[in-house]
Amino acid sequence: MRAMVLKKLRTALESTDLPDRQPGPGQIRVKVAACGVCRTDLHVVDGELADPKVPITPGHEIVGRIDAMGAGVEGLSMGERVGIPWLGHTCGVCAYCVAGHENLCDRPLFTGYTRDGGFATATIADARFAFPLGEVGTDVALAPLLCAGLIGWRSLVIAGDGKKLGLYGFGAAAHIVAQVAKWQGRTVFALTRPGDTGTQAFARRLGATWAGGSDVMPPESLDAAIIFASVGGLVPLALRAVHKGGRVVCAGIHMSDIPTFPYSLLWGERKLLSVANLTRQDGIDFLSLAPRIGVVTATTTYPLDEANRALGDLRAGRFEGAAVLVP
Ligand SMILES: [Zn+2]
Ligand SMILES: [Zn+2]
Repeated sequence: MRAMVLKKLRTALESTDLPDRQPGPGQIRVKVAACGVCRTDLHVVDGELADPKVPITPGHEIVGRIDAMGAGVEGLSMGERVGIPWLGHTCGVCAYCVAGHENLCDRPLFTGYTRDGGFATATIADARFAFPLGEVGTDVALAPLLCAGLIGWRSLVIAGDGKKLGLYGFGAAAHIVAQVAKWQGRTVFALTRPGDTGTQAFARRLGATWAGGSDVMPPESLDAAIIFASVGGLVPLALRAVHKGGRVVCAGIHMSDIPTFPYSLLWGERKLLSVANLTRQDGIDFLSLAPRIGVVTATTTYPLDEANRALGDLRAGRFEGAAVLVP
């Protein structure tokens, strides 16, 4: 197998030939057909997340087919198309797992961060954390659903039922969430990098009622806002944009420091929340809902060997929607 491997933090991925691995008990081997590129991959490469496994093969939006199965795998079959998400393994016995909050597990493994992921021709996964994807939709179109879609969905649920929703940062996750929110009958306000009129037009095409720079206030006060951009300075801006009782949800795994702000921005029972990881139930819920909504993902594909170019384009905001690697 071949993989794009991060051998040292803050360096380019290296195309590397690796011996084929056999799946252990409870594991599957998946021949990768497509793997999305997520902002979290940039945080891994940049060394912004604690204790990564290094060397590591990044990538946690994997679509592929099972080509080998270890002993004891149930409910999956050879050749079946599956999705492998960020949540790669949980302990099953810690207080969080037992309480149904496996996204907060004390001893988890995360695909492409603490276990090898999908920037490769093949990957090994814990079968219990793979989602059957069926045969509807292309591999490339489905890949962004595996993290941008799932984390976006969890963020939207945690944002509550408010009708007026602000989305700060209009990348892979927001472009999916906007479609879901519109389908739910909400009004979407998109806030992008100031001056990024191309992304603002993209947001309007996907159903946003209003789109503008994050340096201006949306035209109406919001019931809730979700911050997808990893910019801490957006937190006080979003708190200012929601009305009393409103929610601000930070959806990223990493964010630059949040500047100090007056307590009056939080006062009035405004709620500031973060979203961490996903549960398997989030995946089951969203992956069954997405086809009913008719979510369409905007994708830019790159050959596997050009993973570094994809990461660079993501960092610079050079494409709309999501980047997807194709081996
Ligand atoms: Zn991700
Ligand atoms: Zn646990």
